[in-house]
Amino acid sequence: MSDSPLPEGVKHLVPVKPVEKAPKLTDEAKKELQSVGMMDDKGKLKIKGVSPKMLKRMKQEAVDCPVLQKEIAFVQCYVCRNFHSRISGKVYCKGEPLTY
Ligand code: SF4
Repeated sequence: MSDSPLPEGVKHLVPVKPVEKAPKLTDEAKKELQSVGMMDDKGKLKIKGVSPKMLKRMKQEAVDCPVLQKEIAFVQCYVCRNFHSRISGKVYCKGEPLTY
């Protein structure tokens, strides 16, 4: 059995896993979120198209990021420039080097 080919530009399939409490967002991730208008000055998340209920669930998910080589909050992954899509509980990650 062979894996179906990954979409163009996607290097990793990263499983999303439930966690008790998602890892804290890094300052860089917060800045990134704020710069794209997905977080207000008080640090409250406002992601377009994501309902408060979904957001609550996303906050209890994490991924073992193959690029940063550590566990990070799914919210951070979702806004990462390497994020391609999420299908069946897996993140399609472009896997480019990140500067943070
Ligand atoms: S999309 Fe970004 S944060 Fe998510 S797994 Fe890929 S490199 Fe890591």
